Amino acid sequence: METYRKTNGLRQRILVVDDEFINREILGNILSRDYEITYAENGKEAWEQLQDRKYHISLILLDLLMPEMDGFQVLERLKDNETLKNIPVIVMTSEDSAEVQSIRMGAADFITKPYDMPEVILARCQRIIELYEDKSIIRSAEKDELTGLYSREFFYEYIRQLETYNDRRPIDAIVLNIDHFHMINEMYGRTVGDEVLRRTGAILLGLADRYSCIGCRIDADTFYLYMDHQDSYEGVFTPLQEELDRLTQLPRIRFRIGVYPEVDKSIPVEQWFDHAKMTCDRIRGDYTRQLYYYSKEQNEADLYHERLINDIEEAIRNRDFLVFFQPKYAIQGIEPRLRSAEALVRWKHPELGMISPGDFIPLFESNGLIQKLDHYVWKEAAHQIREWKSDFGIEVPISVNVSRIDIYDPELKEKLLHLLEENGLAPEDLLLEITESAYSDDAQGLIEVVNDLRDSGFRIEMDDFGSGYSSLNMITTIPIDVLKMDMKFIRDMNKGEKNRKMVEMVVEIAKFLDVGVVAEGVEEENQLVTLKDMGCDVIQGYYFSKPVPAKEFEPFIREEIEKREREGGTC
Ligand code: C2E
Ligand code: CA
Ligand code: CA
Repeated sequence: METYRKTNGLRQRILVVDDEFINREILGNILSRDYEITYAENGKEAWEQLQDRKYHISLILLDLLMPEMDGFQVLERLKDNETLKNIPVIVMTSEDSAEVQSIRMGAADFITKPYDMPEVILARCQRIIELYEDKSIIRSAEKDELTGLYSREFFYEYIRQLETYNDRRPIDAIVLNIDHFHMINEMYGRTVGDEVLRRTGAILLGLADRYSCIGCRIDADTFYLYMDHQDSYEGVFTPLQEELDRLTQLPRIRFRIGVYPEVDKSIPVEQWFDHAKMTCDRIRGDYTRQLYYYSKEQNEADLYHERLINDIEEAIRNRDFLVFFQPKYAIQGIEPRLRSAEALVRWKHPELGMISPGDFIPLFESNGLIQKLDHYVWKEAAHQIREWKSDFGIEVPISVNVSRIDIYDPELKEKLLHLLEENGLAPEDLLLEITESAYSDDAQGLIEVVNDLRDSGFRIEMDDFGSGYSSLNMITTIPIDVLKMDMKFIRDMNKGEKNRKMVEMVVEIAKFLDVGVVAEGVEEENQLVTLKDMGCDVIQGYYFSKPVPAKEFEPFIREEIEKREREGGTC
């Protein structure tokens, strides 16, 4: 602590409280070479200064007899104040009896007036300040035995103290972790594991000399550093990685470093390191990045995602997920005819409002939670098909999105069949949309699952076709019923001959494969006309309707019934 403070020119502050100018001046002369001094002329003024908290006060030199508020009253008040009671007080008096009383009231020491030996006064002040500062951090074990770095409690306490002198200095919070540390223990034994940690500790202690920082080992293989702000950390940790490579010779063992630069000092110290830790965790397993910087936006996004993850279960229970339906129309006849609908989920969050699937579907896909949500949507969709059937007497098949993770669920088929059975439906009623990118992952595994589903009568649409990388060769071997062209083709379709040709090609591929073709994202009439000319069977898009709640979908069904009636019951 002393070294950090001295190398950084930080001085503690003493509050001198005395009503006599001459006394204040003498004490100021004795102490101002080593300390910053603040003066108060009586107890009241001293108390106001202490409340102000502009500076951290390391020691109070307190006269006892003063107007307005005397020294005893100050002592009394300090004793009752949670934050101020830890500031040591040296009482300045000329009466022996008052010395005893003030010590009883919590004073740490006393100095007798008149002031005769400046060295003694200075030494007493120094001793008391050191004693009190150490007292508050000495309670915790100071050092981590293995590495010689500070322990967690000590580290935090130390920073809090440094910050009281240091609050304008820009500081970086750094978290360092060893990827796959457990492998070192497993492959080389704990002795080598310990050696790696010990050397890491030594290198970090070395950094402390060069960069003005302090370090701690927070747990097994995670280290925290409190460091004066650096513009760049490139190179700072290179010796560390070299040492690690030399020790383990395992390419996958490497340091990951998360930096929260120029910490926000209005938030608690622990939170600085939480931010740095989160940043460090973001690059776990990412071998292209070793060092990552915290950004506020990223952190907010992470927190938002965490919130969504926490809330999903309850949202399912409370039915906060709403299933909307978007119609798909067959367009090759004289007039467009309602063919089916796609079920699309929305989240009506009680606090965050309406959340679009773009915000939570990719998140839930990445952590597997999507499976729960998909089941919920399928159930709602199946229920809706039955309801429309009983209300209107016609079947409107609904397509549902099937995520990659659902496909590898060994009970997928049973679950779907069960839903059909529960609602008295046939497999043709529930169409399954599987995104193209799922096919490129494990084509063979997927083909088996899809074959099995088709054998049971389900029809499969390949969603977002053209967005992934499936080769033409693969397309010919994949069992599907419908190609659903990616929306971007439609968006760009009328932007030039080349784009139009692309769409034509997709339609031709579908014809060649002898499967249906759906265009989604159709917003304008000219798109519809072009697609119709090309021979596209079905379109979905804002041109007909946005996805809407079930009730708002009913007019489309009524309209379809009217068309059927006009045709005399044929469609
Ligand atoms: P998707 O499956 O490709 O669904 C089509 C998306 O395009 C929907 O967005 C739909 O609202 C939007 N869309 C339809 N017509 C138009 C149009 O004319 N113009 C434009 N600009 N957009 C149109 P949404 O509902 O926001 O869904 C986005 C994606 O979220 C879906 O893309 C799908 O991948 C996913 N998703 C939605 N619901 C579910 C679900 O229940 N389960 C799973 N696994 N994914 C879902
Ligand atoms: Ca879809
Ligand atoms: Ca799509």
